Order: sequence, then C-alpha cells, then structure tokens
Amino acid sequence: MSAAERWLADFEEALRDPDDASLAKLFRTDAHWRDLLAFTWQVKTVSGAGKIVRELKRYAEQTGPSGFAVDPGRTPPRSVTRAGENAIEAIFRFDTALGRCAGVLRLAPDGRCWTLLTALDEIKGFEESVGGRKPRVEDREAAVLIVGGGHAGLSIAARLKALGVDALIVDRHTRVGDNWRKRYQALRLHNQKHVNHLPYMPFPPDWPTYIPKDRLAGWFEAYAESLELDFWTGSEFSGGTYDEKVGRWTVEVRRNGRTRTLRPRHIVMATGVSGIPHVPEIPGLKNFAGQVVHSHGYDDASEWQGRDALVIGTGNSGHDIAQDLYSSGARVTLAQRSPTLIVNIEPSAQLPYALYGEGPPLEDCDLLTASVPLALLRKAHRAWAEQSKAFDRELLEGLTRAGFRIDTEDELGWQFKYLQHGGGYYFNVGCSDLIVERKIPVVQFSDIEGFAAEGAKTRGGKTIPADLIVLATGYRGLDVLVRRLLGDAVADRAGPIWGYGEEAQELRNMWTRTGQPGLWFIAGSFAQCRIYSKVLALQIKAVEEGLIPARTARQSAVAA
Ligand SMILES: Cc1cc2nc3c(=O)[nH]c(=O)nc-3n(C[C@H](O)[C@H](O)[C@H](O)COP(=O)(O)OP(=O)(O)OC[C@H]3O[C@@H](n4cnc5c(N)ncnc54)[C@H](O)[C@@H]3O)c2cc1C
Repeated sequence: MSAAERWLADFEEALRDPDDASLAKLFRTDAHWRDLLAFTWQVKTVSGAGKIVRELKRYAEQTGPSGFAVDPGRTPPRSVTRAGENAIEAIFRFDTALGRCAGVLRLAPDGRCWTLLTALDEIKGFEESVGGRKPRVEDREAAVLIVGGGHAGLSIAARLKALGVDALIVDRHTRVGDNWRKRYQALRLHNQKHVNHLPYMPFPPDWPTYIPKDRLAGWFEAYAESLELDFWTGSEFSGGTYDEKVGRWTVEVRRNGRTRTLRPRHIVMATGVSGIPHVPEIPGLKNFAGQVVHSHGYDDASEWQGRDALVIGTGNSGHDIAQDLYSSGARVTLAQRSPTLIVNIEPSAQLPYALYGEGPPLEDCDLLTASVPLALLRKAHRAWAEQSKAFDRELLEGLTRAGFRIDTEDELGWQFKYLQHGGGYYFNVGCSDLIVERKIPVVQFSDIEGFAAEGAKTRGGKTIPADLIVLATGYRGLDVLVRRLLGDAVADRAGPIWGYGEEAQELRNMWTRTGQPGLWFIAGSFAQCRIYSKVLALQIKAVEEGLIPARTARQSAVAA
C-alpha cells in the first residue's frame, strides 16, 4: 500500500471516529482543505488542522463520504515540489450520498496532509450527457439566461447543456466571436494554447502556440454551433427584477430593435471581469481637437498611419494599442499614470502554467490547479515574481533608462494583480522593446500640464502632438455593472464581486451562490472559466433539482 493509499484509508476511518484526535493527527498544523461543493456545496477553503477537523466532521455527517481511493484512471501519485516544498501528490476519488467526487492530496515528507482538495465531479442521477437534442430556445423560456457570449458565457452554456439545463446566451455583438474579432489586428492570446482550451472541444493540435484573435473568434462560432448552444446575437440585456416569491427574474433583452421580456430562474453574468470602461475626468482634455477614444472602442490602426497618437495608460491595452499604432506607421507617445509591472511573455508570463506542459492530461492539470489553496498560491507566485525579475532584468533596466516607471513594490506578480484588480501589468510582446529603443517615447502623465487643440502640453512647455488620444484607463468592476443593470437592492444583496476580501480565501461571489438568489457570476481566464464553469453548472443543476436551496444558510440568515 502506498503512502497516499494508507493516508486515504486512515482518513476515511478517522472521519467516522467520534474522537477528533485520530483525524487531527493526519493533518499538519498549517494544512489547508479546499472544498469545491463535495462536502459543503460551497467553494470554500479552511486553514489550520483544528479548524479543518471541526469542519470536516460537521460536513461529513451530512454528506456521508466513503470509498476514498487513489484513482487508477488518473495521473498516479508522484513526488513534486510545490511552492518550494516537497510533497507526494495524489489524485483520488470518493463518493458522497449525492455525488461522485475527485480530490487531490499532498502529503508532506512526515506523512501528514499538507493540502487537501475535495471536489464534486457529478451528481448521482444527473450525470453529464453530451448530444441530447432539445428544441432551440426560441419559443420557450430558458431556465438560465447567460449575459455575455465570450469564453465565460460559452463555457457555462456548454456545461449546463451537458447537464440538461436549458440556457440561453445573449450578447450584444452581431456575430459570435466578435468580442475578439473586433479587437485590434495584432492581438494574439497571451497564454499558450494548451492552457486555453474551452470545455469538451480542445483547439486543434496544429494551431499556433499563441492563438491569433480571428482564429479564436472563428472557433467561438464553431463551438456554439457544434455544441448547439442557444445564442442570441445582437441582443442587449438591459436589466431586470427578481420576484422572490416565484423565484424568477423578469428581464428585458433588446433584440433586432424589439424589446423581449424573458422570465429565467437564473441569470449568469458573463460580461467579463471588466464591467464598464473607466473614463477618468482629465482636466483640459476638452480643448483637444482630435479624436478621443477609450481602449474599449479602439479597433483599427490603419487610419492613423503617418499621424500622431498619444496613448494614456500603461496596462496591457495601452501597450498593445501603442504597438499596434506604431506598427501601422503612426507616431506614438505613451503616457504613464502609475508604475506598472512588466513581464516578458516568455518565459516569465508562462511560469505559473508550467504544469500544463508537464504531461498530465488537461483534466488532471485542472484538478491539480484547483487544489492549490490561496496561501500556497501566494507563496508560489512570490517565487515566480522573483524569478521573473531575474529573467527580465535587462529589459527592466532598459525601461527605467527610457523613463518608464516599473512597479518595484509588487511582490506577488501579475496574476495577483489580475485576481485583485483585473489589471495593472503588461506582458511584453514587443512594446517594451520599442520603448527601450526609444521608438515609442514615454512621458509621465504627471508631467502633462494640460491639452490644446493640437495635443498635450508638458510642464516643460513642450507640445506632444496628437491627432488621436486613446484612453487605456481601464474598467470599473462588475459591481458597478450589476448596480446599473439590476438596481441597488440586488447589487447590495449580491455584494462585492471578484478580488479577495480582507480574510477571504476565495474570490468574492465568483461561481458560487450569491446573496441574491438566482444571480451568478463567471469571469476570468480561459483556464478559470473551464474549471469553474463546471462548479457553477453543478450548483445551478442542484438548485434546479431542489437538492440545495438558492442561498446558503448563512446568506439566508444575512438576508433575514
Ligand atoms: C491581448 C489579450 C490577450 C489575452 N490573452 C489571454 C490568454 O491567453 N488567456 C486568458 O485566459 N485570457 C487572456 N486574456 C484576458 C481575458 O481572457 C479576455 O479579456 C476575455 O475576453 C474575457 O472573457 P469573458 O468571456 O469573461 O468576457 P468578454 O470576452 O469581455 O465577453 C463578454 C461579452 O459580454 C457581452 N456583454 C456585456 N454586457 C452585455 C449586455 N448588457 N448585454 C449583452 N451582452 C453583453 C459583450 O458583448 C461580450 O461579448 C487576454 C486579453 C487580451 C486583451
């Protein structure tokens, strides 16, 4: 019997033992347990042996877990180094009264558990089935309305379809994939192809490592068609109200010039992490006689060939747009508002995804990724951020010499900036090199005193000529969007969305039940949406089948 098998057998026995000591001795004092629905029907992380034992016991009584065993069909137990520590990592399976589940165990060298993941894989009696045909949602009400048909919306629609839940995607774009197609020409995905697959239908193996945006757009169209997803294009969701008594929304969708009223039981907001373009009040900008556009509305550099452009903002969008304009023959200046984290696309930006290139199948990589609790994730990212700084030293020094301010305070790297703020970094795909070579000059925004018809005026009395000013000034969060579309009461009940709260170990209100019954959120990277669309779909299915209430007990208590 291997160490992992022995631990799992002891664990199952200890869960039933009325004496807590037998369970406590299986965990390191600084252990973490993450549960994706299997025990708690929540996305929840518990840290510290004492707390883990209490919570495991409490939930085990309700869920009746049994049959813990290393899963012979998956990546076998192996020795690994995670966040700088050695461990044995094993994928296992088990059952509860309601479901079949999977898990990941990391054993420390002393044989105790360091991290434990338990995840619901399928609900018994409601297994996924692919290919079941149903009439299209033209003539009847869908149970779920998905607002937004980017990869987040497509992923959750595909998962719900496999569980037999009627879902309708609405997107204001006129064609599936336009969310990428309409972005600037030079755009390619920033992560490598093998991290970015959508559920059930992987990208063809001969596709380029970094997928160009038009290919991706075409793939989205093929995906929706192949999986027979109900997708209304040219349809803008303009708001709705919730009737708590009947458990339904009444929502309005503007389609082909007509307003349609729909009555779904659930709304899934899949509108992107970045809700509404943030257009700051820039004193004097009204004096400028040229064109001003937010990065959200920028799509084509060709008309700016041979002309002057000023791009304000140095996140990914600001850099990409500056590079796009430069490549199309425009003269570009980049204005920096605050210090920015810069990471070379290779190898630095890819470090967190190394697992996906190590050989285990995608499904195992996803489970292993989900098994990393926040504390370890922070530790791992701190190390990757240090490594990146070393890899990118030459570039960072060159940028500093060119007058660009690097965010030197940052300790956790780009992914935490994304998880916490949805931006604040740039993956260098060439723009930083143009800055170092002085082909794209940088000016500090604080050195701009004001604007005149012909461009920006610096405090030193110079004019930065411009025909175009692009405001790459970011977005306001999902909270703002929800408030605008669904009103204050719903926004207050739902609470903050995305980012980590003070002591929270999970992203706020993402892919779980919220304080507002029937309102759900999905957003994030392709990998996050692939992994958590399943978690979200299982919960919607469970609510639909009456297996769990629409709100957790705690959320109901808060609402009361
Ligand atoms: C250059 C670049 C490279 C990137 N590379 C990667 C990568 O490699 N891997 C990765 O994981 N991520 C990458 N990202 C980041 C991220 O995945 C994308 O920004 C992605 O678009 C987010 O997907 P989404 O489905 O959540 O939202 P979106 O793609 O923004 O889709 C939201 C949809 O909602 C619709 N919508 C919004 N409001 C309404 C409404 N009221 N009614 C109807 N429809 C509405 C919009 O029309 C839109 O189609 C990259 C981003 C950029 C800019």
